[in-house]
Amino acid sequence: MEEQYKRLLELLGEVSDLQAAAAVLGWDQQTYMPPGGAQGRSMHLATITRLAHEKFVNEEIGELLEALKSEAADLDPDSDEACIVKQVSREYEKQRKVPGEWVADFSRVTSMAHQSWEKARKESDFPTFEPDLESVFELRRQYVDFFTPYDHIYDPLLDDFEPGLKTSDVIQIFEELRPKQVELVQAIAESSNSIDDAVLYQSFDETKQWDFGEEVIKAFGYDFDRGRQDKSPHPFTTSFSIDDVRITTRVRPDFLSTALFGTLHEAGHAMYEQGISDSLARTPLEGGTSLAVHESQSRMWENLVGRSKPFWVAFYSRLQEYFPSELGDVKLDDFYQAINLVEPSLIRVEADEATYNLHIMLRFELELALLEQQLKVSDLPEVWNQKMDEYLGVTPPNDAEGVLQDIHWSMGIFGYFSTYSLGNLIATMLWDKMKIDIPDLEKQIELGKFDDLLGWHREKIHQHGGKYEPMDLVKRATGSELSAEPYIRYLQTKFGEIYDL
Ligand code: ZN
Repeated sequence: MEEQYKRLLELLGEVSDLQAAAAVLGWDQQTYMPPGGAQGRSMHLATITRLAHEKFVNEEIGELLEALKSEAADLDPDSDEACIVKQVSREYEKQRKVPGEWVADFSRVTSMAHQSWEKARKESDFPTFEPDLESVFELRRQYVDFFTPYDHIYDPLLDDFEPGLKTSDVIQIFEELRPKQVELVQAIAESSNSIDDAVLYQSFDETKQWDFGEEVIKAFGYDFDRGRQDKSPHPFTTSFSIDDVRITTRVRPDFLSTALFGTLHEAGHAMYEQGISDSLARTPLEGGTSLAVHESQSRMWENLVGRSKPFWVAFYSRLQEYFPSELGDVKLDDFYQAINLVEPSLIRVEADEATYNLHIMLRFELELALLEQQLKVSDLPEVWNQKMDEYLGVTPPNDAEGVLQDIHWSMGIFGYFSTYSLGNLIATMLWDKMKIDIPDLEKQIELGKFDDLLGWHREKIHQHGGKYEPMDLVKRATGSELSAEPYIRYLQTKFGEIYDL
C-alpha cells in the first residue's frame, strides 16, 4: 500500500501545483495585471486549468484509487490516508462522469453568456441575455443527467459545492427560516426606533481605513508572514499553499463599512485556509471542506464578531483615534446601531444581516423552479420582482437592479447561492457550542483577545481541511444536525434589542 499511496500523493501533488500556479495568475489578474494582459492571461489560465484536469482524471490515478480503496478499509477512518482515498475517489468518480465534449461546450456557451450578461446589465435589458441564459440552463440540465439516479434534480448541482448535502434538506431549512425572517423584517420596519447611519458616510482617509482593518485582523490572528492584503474591484481570498493565503479588499473614501467589513470577511476565509493541517498540503483536501463552511468562517468574523457590541468595546476608541474629527463625538452605542441598520434593499451584496437570507432564498427558489421546468427563463424578471415585493417589500425599478444583478448564472454557476445562507446558520451553530466551551468568550472579545476563539475553530474546523463532508464536520463540531434555530434566535435577540421589538 505504501508505494501506491506515495505514488498517488505524487500525482495529486502535481495537480495541486498546477492549480496553485493558476491561482497565482488569477490573483495577479485581479490585482496588478494591466488591462492589456487580459487576452494572454485567459490563454494561460485555460491551458493550465486543462492540464490540471487532464492530470487528475488520468487512468493511473483511477487505478491507484481502486487498489487503495480496499486497503484503506482497514485504516482508522479518521486518518489522513483513509480520508484522502475516500474524498479523492469521490471527486474522481464525479469528474470522470462529465464528458470532455460537454466541458468544451460549457466553456464556450458560458463565455458568450458572460459577455451578453455584461451588456444586458449595462443596458438593463434582460432579452439581450435571455437566449444565452436559455442555453446555459440547457447545458446544466444535461449535466445533471450525468449523475442519474438522484433524489432531486438539483442534488448534483448542490453537491458540487456542498458534498453530501441534499436539496430536500435545504428546502426544509429554508421553509423554517423564511417566515421568521419575513416576520422579523416587518417588525423592524414597524419599529419606532429609527436608526441613522449617516456617521458611516463621511470622508474617511483611505490609508487610515486600510491600517485600521489590518490592525484588527492581526489581532484576530491572520498571519501576515503567510499572507498579504491587496486592492481589487471585488474582494476575494485565494490560497497558493497553506503558507501563502492572500486577501483583497476595496476602499471607498466616502463610506466606512466597505473596506472594514470586507477585510474582516476575507480574513475569516483566509484564517480557515491558514489553519489547515500541514499533513494535507498538496492534496485536494488542503482547502476548506465546502463553501458553506467557508462562509461560516467569514461571516463569523464579519458579523458575530465584527458587528457585535463586545468587539466595539475593545476597538471603538482605537477607531476614534484614527478618525478623531469624524467619529470623536459619536457615541459607541450610536456607532453600533449605525453598523447594524436594517433596511430592505434591492442588491444582495449590500444587504444587512436581517435581510440577506431572503435574497438568497429568492434565488434558490427560482433555480429550483427553472430546473423543475415550472418556470420559463423568459418569465424570470417578472417572478423575481414579485418575490422581492413579497419578501422584502421592495420592487426593482429595472432589471439591472433586479434579475441581472448577479454574475453567477452567466458563468453557469447554479446550486451556489444557498451556501451563503447555510454559512450564516453554521456560523451561529458553531458560536453557540463555542460559548459553552469558552464561558468568558464575550469578556475576552471585550479585551480584544481572540486566541481562544481562533484556537477553538482551528481545532474543530480548520485543521481538518476537506477530510470530512461539510455536514459531518458540523456535526462533529457541534453535536447537532444542520438547523436554522440558532440563527433565528440570534437575529431575534440582536435586532430585538437594537430595534426595541
Ligand atoms: Zn465569503
